[in-house]
Amino acid sequence: MRSLGTLGSALVPTMGAFHKGHLELIRAARATGRPVVVSIFVNPTQFGPHEDYSRYPRDLDRDAELAEQAGVEVIFHPEAREMYPRPSSSIHVAEVTEHFEGSLRPGHFDGVSTVVCKLFQIVRPDVALFGLKDLQQCVVIRRMVDDLNIPVELRFQPTVREADGLAMSSRNAYLSSEERAAAPLIYRLLTDSRTRLLDSEEPDRVLKSAWNRLTEGGFEPQYFELVDLESFTPVRRAGDSTALVAAARIGKTRLIDNVLLFDRPNMP
Ligand code: AMP
Repeated sequence: MRSLGTLGSALVPTMGAFHKGHLELIRAARATGRPVVVSIFVNPTQFGPHEDYSRYPRDLDRDAELAEQAGVEVIFHPEAREMYPRPSSSIHVAEVTEHFEGSLRPGHFDGVSTVVCKLFQIVRPDVALFGLKDLQQCVVIRRMVDDLNIPVELRFQPTVREADGLAMSSRNAYLSSEERAAAPLIYRLLTDSRTRLLDSEEPDRVLKSAWNRLTEGGFEPQYFELVDLESFTPVRRAGDSTALVAAARIGKTRLIDNVLLFDRPNMP
């Protein structure tokens, strides 16, 4: 094995239950030419009390096999009590955590930013890779790294999708076959809404129509919004640095997805 100390590593933080989205991050990490470290840790502090921490899918043997096939040098798989041996200090990232996932899942981003910061300190990577599937998370980590002067280069990778457009997610395993058949509607509405906004249609009208179509499609929408990528606040002007973000429940499962208004490499 190459020495992690001299070369610096590329870190891919995950919660395991690998799918092609994770494997694509690993591929991109390998393409940096650095040894690849993958962390697999279902982080309790980013789950709310009524969320799916205990039933979140876990399959370390399969993940380890896939990671090895993908050329990962190190898997870091700590126990919760090793990461949090006592009540933990935590990081709160300002502003970009106020809306959307931040307000619907109180404490979620404190859990995410704290565990990612701990992983950065433990692994000391010089590059870390994240998926744009969790767009607000990317913006939160970018802001944490900038605000706290953390010496790591961030890379954000495009969302990997199923053939019908559904964003890959470990939580897709929760979907019944009828829910799975309905699930691609979110991405269809995101891309359709992007086209309509780029055709200069009134944002309020576009967003409302997407909301109604989600409801008609059997979803319980939580947000379908146009956001500014700097502040992660809602805006009503489709610009260069904006994205459409959506979250909706179908049955017991909560799905999130997004599209950038204009594809740019390594956003945000
Ligand atoms: P998770 O294991 O769900 O915490 O995800 C670990 C990393 O994989 C995060 O940076 C996610 O944004 C990223 N990721 C999850 N799903 C996808 C996907 N469909 N495409 C690209 N990246 C993804």
